[in-house]
Amino acid sequence: MAALDDEVEPEAAIMVATCHTAGCPAEGEPCVGTYYANAEPPIYRGMCMPCGQPITDLVPYEESATQ
Ligand SMILES: [Zn+2]
Repeated sequence: MAALDDEVEPEAAIMVATCHTAGCPAEGEPCVGTYYANAEPPIYRGMCMPCGQPITDLVPYEESATQ
């Protein structure tokens, strides 16, 4: 049997990352993903896949977004 009870899961958060790098194929396109908290700031770090630049625009994903 695996001792799964002893494992400490890192805190995960669903975040929406939006790249603002000029000329990036994903520029301005929100990308929802799972992010894990880091020990020191910035707590959540994102990287844009198409352009490889760090994403600073990270906001918590809200499932019940109105409008
Ligand atoms: Zn990008």
